[in-house]
Amino acid sequence: MDNPTIFGKIINGQIPAKKVFEDDDVLAFHDIQPAAEVHFLIIPKKFIPTLADATAEDTALLGKMLALVPVLAAGQGLTGGFRTAINTGKQGGQEVYHLHIHVFGNRPGGEPLRTIAGKA
Ligand code: AMP
Repeated sequence: MDNPTIFGKIINGQIPAKKVFEDDDVLAFHDIQPAAEVHFLIIPKKFIPTLADATAEDTALLGKMLALVPVLAAGQGLTGGFRTAINTGKQGGQEVYHLHIHVFGNRPGGEPLRTIAGKA
């Protein structure tokens, strides 16, 4: 499937990104509009528009992405905790239709995130 999104352009190098991690399956890079001191996105290289489009075939890939979250968060200094979010579809506030996990938070010593889900 063609990937018409800005994240597709980041994957194929047409648009630069501040990369956090990359392998054959997954890319992680900093969000251009950070909602906290640290804010990065983890995306599959496979084009999956939304979480609702993922299938049983994607189970291992999704698990790999989720398992990377605490590892990459710790690498960015988020050793005291962080928030993850996957916005899905119009009603979920999704803007870029290439599946992504938001990971964001403030480093230890910074302000903790508010407790309401989705509010930074
Ligand atoms: P969502 O609303 O979940 O689709 O979030 C899309 C996110 O992608 C937003 O937080 C944007 O700031 C971020 N974003 C959009 N374009 C870029 C880009 N070129 N590089 C990094 N992050 C981006």
